[in-house]
Amino acid sequence: MLAYPFSLALFNTFKLDVNCNSFISLDNINQLSEVSSAIKKAPQHLILGGGSNILFTKNYDGLVIKNNLKGITLINEDTQHIYLQAMAGEWWQDFVLHCVNNNYGGVENLSLIPGTVGATPIQNIGAYGVEVKNTIHSVTFFDIETEQLHTYTNAQCEFGYRESIFKHTLKNKIIITAVVFKLTKHPQLNTKYGVIAEQLIAMHITTPTIKDVSDAVIAIRQSKLPNPAITGNAGSFFKNPVVTHAVFDTLITTHPTLSHYADVKGVKLAAGWLIEQCGLKGYTHNGAAVHSKQALVLINANNATGTDVLALATHVQQTVYAKFGVQLEMEVNVL
Ligand SMILES: Cc1cc2nc3c(=O)[nH]c(=O)nc-3n(C[C@H](O)[C@H](O)[C@H](O)COP(=O)(O)OP(=O)(O)OC[C@H]3O[C@@H](n4cnc5c(N)ncnc54)[C@H](O)[C@@H]3O)c2cc1C
Repeated sequence: MLAYPFSLALFNTFKLDVNCNSFISLDNINQLSEVSSAIKKAPQHLILGGGSNILFTKNYDGLVIKNNLKGITLINEDTQHIYLQAMAGEWWQDFVLHCVNNNYGGVENLSLIPGTVGATPIQNIGAYGVEVKNTIHSVTFFDIETEQLHTYTNAQCEFGYRESIFKHTLKNKIIITAVVFKLTKHPQLNTKYGVIAEQLIAMHITTPTIKDVSDAVIAIRQSKLPNPAITGNAGSFFKNPVVTHAVFDTLITTHPTLSHYADVKGVKLAAGWLIEQCGLKGYTHNGAAVHSKQALVLINANNATGTDVLALATHVQQTVYAKFGVQLEMEVNVL
C-alpha cells in the first residue's frame, strides 16, 4: 500500500488531479486475499484499470486497487479456433496486437481502444460493428466477500449493448482477474462498416488481412478521436439511445436525416448526430468541451474539473431532450 493522499492524475484519461485515501497495485494473484482484507476495512473501493471510462468529480474517499495482473497464455486450440487467456491488467491494445501479429481473428475491429483486458467484459466494449462479447469464451473473477475464484461462461456474463452482469448484480463485489478469448484461425473479416471499407480503399487494399483491418481502424480512430495522451477524454461519453419503432417513426418524420441503425430492442439512434444537431459541437463549459470532430466525446480542453465535465454532460442531455425528447444515458462511470 502506498502513502496518502495518493494522486490519481496519471491514472485517469480525463487527466483529473484527484486524490484517493489509499492505493494498492495488484501485481500477483497471491495478493488477492490481502486485497480482500484491505477492501473490507475501507469505506469504499474502486478496481482501476486504465481509468479510461471513469470521470472523477471529487477526491475518492476510499481504497483504489490498480489491476496490474499481466500475462497472455495459450489455453487450447483446434483446427478452427485458438483459446487465449489474458490477465486482466494486460493493456487491451497489446492483446489486440498479439492477436493481429499471430493472425488470430476476432478483435481487429476493436484496435486502439484504451484500457485493460479486465475492463472489456464490464461494458462489453464495441466499435466498428463488433462487440468483445463475440470473442469472449469465459471470464474469471475473484469474489471479494468469499475470497473464491469463479469462472463464468459467455452466457453467464449476460452481455448486452455496453452491458454485462459485472455492471449490475456483481458490481463492486468482484475483481476480474482473467479473460479467455476464442479467436478464429480462418477469420471472416468484418469490413462492412462503411468507414472501414472507405479507409481500405484509401489504403489501396482490395483483399485485406487481419492486420490491414486493424491498421484501417487505427487510422480512422487517430483521425477522429482525441488522443487521451494529449487531450483528456474518456471516449464516447453517452450510449447511443435505443428507442421504440413508434418513437422512431415520429422522429424520422420531423428529422428525415436522423442517423440510426437496426437494433434487437428497437431502433438505435446515433447520439453524436443528436448532439451535433443541437449545435453543441465545440460547445464549451469552463474548461470542458464537446469535441469539435466527434460530438459524442467530451474533452478536458483547458484545466477542467470533473464537475465542469459533468455540468457539460448534463447540459448536453437536457438540450438533446428538449429538441428530440430522447434521454441520453452516460456511458462513462461518474464517481
Ligand atoms: C479515446 C478513447 C476511446 C474509446 N473508445 C471506445 C470504444 O470505441 N468502444 C468502447 O466500448 N469504449 C471505448 N472507450 C472507453 C474505454 O476505453 C473502455 O470502456 C475500456 O474498456 C475501459 O478500460 P479501463 O481499463 O480503462 O477501465 P477503467 O476506466 O479503469 O474502469 C472502468 C470500470 O470497470 C471497472 N473495472 C476495471 N477493471 C476491473 C477489473 N479487473 N475487475 C472489476 N472491475 C473492473 C472499474 O471499477 C470501473 O467501474 C474509449 C475511451 C477513450 C479514452
